[in-house]
This record gives sequence, C-alpha cells and structure tokens, in this order.
Amino acid sequence: MWTTEKQEKFRAKIREFAEGEIAPIAARMDEEQHFSEHLVSRMNELGLLGMVVDAKYGGTYVDTLTYIVAVEELSRICGSAGIIIAAHNSLGCWPIYQFGTEEQKKRFLPEITTGGKLSSFGLTEPGAGSDAGGTKTFAEKVDGGFKVNGSKCWITNGGVASTIVFTARTTHAKDTHAISSFVVKSGAKGFTIGKKENKLGVRASDTRVLHFDDCFIPDSDLLGEVGSGFKQFMMTLDGGRISIGALALGIAQGAYDVAIKYAKHHQQFGQPIADFQAVAFKLADMATQLQAARHLIYHSAVLKDEGKRRFTTEAAMAKLFASEVGNFVTYQAMMILGADGYSEKYPVERLHRDLKICEIGEGTSEIQRLVISRNVLKEIE
Ligand SMILES: Cc1cc2nc3c(=O)[nH]c(=O)nc-3n(C[C@H](O)[C@H](O)[C@H](O)COP(=O)(O)OP(=O)(O)OC[C@H]3O[C@@H](n4cnc5c(N)ncnc54)[C@H](O)[C@@H]3O)c2cc1C
Repeated sequence: MWTTEKQEKFRAKIREFAEGEIAPIAARMDEEQHFSEHLVSRMNELGLLGMVVDAKYGGTYVDTLTYIVAVEELSRICGSAGIIIAAHNSLGCWPIYQFGTEEQKKRFLPEITTGGKLSSFGLTEPGAGSDAGGTKTFAEKVDGGFKVNGSKCWITNGGVASTIVFTARTTHAKDTHAISSFVVKSGAKGFTIGKKENKLGVRASDTRVLHFDDCFIPDSDLLGEVGSGFKQFMMTLDGGRISIGALALGIAQGAYDVAIKYAKHHQQFGQPIADFQAVAFKLADMATQLQAARHLIYHSAVLKDEGKRRFTTEAAMAKLFASEVGNFVTYQAMMILGADGYSEKYPVERLHRDLKICEIGEGTSEIQRLVISRNVLKEIE
C-alpha cells in the first residue's frame, strides 16, 4: 500500500490522542460550538501545527502523506479538529512557507508552527466564492505599503488566528494579475473580526467574517510579487484540496467504524442486523468506496511530494470523490444505526453534519468538476 511502517506508527499515535483526548469532548464542543484552546495547545505539543514547514522556521516538517494521515485520524473522531489543522497547515502556513521571503518566513512562521498560534486564509468574499478571482477587497498602493478595504467571509480559524494570509485586488483590471496576497496580523489597526458563524457542522471550529477598513499593510507584508496572488491561491488550493479529501475520508471512516460494530451486535428478528444481506451489502459498498477514496487521496499526496508536475486534476478528483463518498458513507452509517443514528447517543449524526463542508469548502463539487473537465478536455486534440 501507500504508507510506510513509520507512517502507520504515526497514525497509531494520532489515533490514540484523538480517541483518548478528543472523543470524550467532541459532542460537547459541537453542541456548545466551543472552540477549544486546550485542544489546539495539545495538537501543538504533538507537532501538528508545523507539519508543512521546515524546522529552520520552527516547523515539524513531515511528508504530505504523513500530514494527510494526521488530518484523517483527527477527523475520524472530530471534523472540527480536522478542519482546524487542515486550514491552518495547508492554507495559513503553506503559502507563507512557499511564497514568503526568507525574512518573512523567519518573522511569521515560528509563532504559528510551534509557537501555539493558529493561522488562516482569507480568500472568499460574499460575491467571490466559486469565483475567487472576483475579489473586491482592494489594496491601494500608498507610501510604504497598501491601504486595504473590504471583507472576507467564512474564514476558518478567522477569529482565533494570529496570522492571516489574504487576497486583494491591487489594480482595477479584470485579469488574473490584478490580485495580490498579503499577510495581516490580528490586532492590526483597521482589521476587525466579525461575527462567528452558526454552522451545521464543524461547529467547534471558528468561522468568521473579517473586515478591512483602511487597514495599512506595509510593503514588507506583501507575499511574493504584486499581481501573483491568483497563481498563489490556485497552487495553495491544489494542496488544500488533498487535505479536505483527508478530512472527508477521516470523517467517513469514523462513521463506518461505528456502523460496522453496531451492525455486529445490534439485534432484530433474533439476529445481529449484519446478518441481513441488505445491511452487509451496505457495509461492503461503504468499505469499497472508502478504499477507493483513500487511494485517490494518498496518490495525490505522493504526487505533491514528488514535485515533478502539477497535481491539480488529481487533487480535485481526490477531494470531489472523497467528499461525495463521505456523504454516502456517513448517510448509510446513520441508516444502519436506525434511530440511534439520528440521535446524539452516537457520533454518526455529528459526523454526517461535519462531512458536508467537504463538498463546499475549497471549491464546491461543481467547481471540482469544472477543474477536472477543463483539464481532461485539454488533453484531447
Ligand atoms: C465551514 C466553512 C469554512 C470555510 N473556510 C474557508 C476559509 O478558511 N477560507 C476561505 O477563503 N473560504 C472558506 N470557506 C468558503 C468556501 O470556500 C466557499 O463557501 C466555497 O468556495 C463556495 O463559495 P460560496 O459559498 O460563495 O458559493 P457560490 O460560489 O455562491 O456557489 C453557490 C452555488 O453555485 C454553484 N456554482 C457557482 N459557480 C458555478 C459554476 N461556474 N458552475 C457550476 N456551478 C457553480 C456552486 O457550486 C454552489 O452550488 C468556508 C466555507 C465554509 C462553509
């Protein structure tokens, strides 16, 4: 298979942590929409905040497959823990690590890799979701920097991050070179955090609106060249989509694990329900789909690390397939548990709610199909 013995040892360590420390609090965090600083601090102790960054900048660098295994194992127990880590590593830390100058990496990364602070990525706006290039937030060039005005919405870790990467237009032109990326620190003058969203799932993650009102960003906090923001966020999303695939896979695996145990001990008509072929066949389909999703995700993780070519299509396929499989698997798990699947007695209904974000975040399923179809059609003369 794809993983090494070392990666499986790492999986066992994260599974032990998730089962031992997250499982007992996951339902309460969901019910109360409680973002747990304690949980983040424990994940930091385990090195989970610095996984995509080299030790030179405070990181705990691991290969992409190992990182994906961590997201999968956290999400198997709690989608919120999974999305906090996926958004932080893939969307917050990675662009700074990849596109930042040496000075920026030394300045921004240690605090958010092993310093215990989170990061986030502000791309989406009310009219610029699927059309992320339709950004209206504007960064006007002024002496020594940029004056930024506009708003971002649905930003994971938005209210709890110390460091936020965001996009803004730097010209009124309509082309893809009109967008640039910047880093803003929470607490910057003119930067305010809006209301926390009341969500269907991943309710223990912090999702916010962010406002820029004449917020001054110094030249030193521009990420890469002026006009390179579009290319940067497309590359960031390629990696991010693998982690959303892992989020979906982990959540679905969690629901499947509960359902298969339940089916083996829960009795109707004097026998375990797993003995009814209708239930056993559901489990067969769930196991098959999970395995297929795992292959797609792990394959794109390996492609990313090989670095020989872009993996845009594979990452979109992995995210699309895993999130739709996740929807199917968590739904079937609920059906296998009957009324118990509909209640808070088991984590399955929470996992089903948590799963839904995977079909929306970092591009809806329609957008993944758009990306994949454009690329496969390009291959044909
Ligand atoms: C919990 C949560 C966390 C999030 N975290 C972040 C984050 O950290 N950072 C961030 O920047 N964003 C984040 N997002 C935003 C997310 O990426 C967007 O919601 C997503 O890209 C979809 O955009 P939208 O909601 O504006 O929907 P829209 O783009 O308005 O889409 C509405 C519907 O129209 C369809 N549609 C749109 N265009 C097309 C088209 N061309 N072809 C076919 N169908 C189309 C969509 O598929 C969808 O069904 C988060 C969202 C949620 C819910």
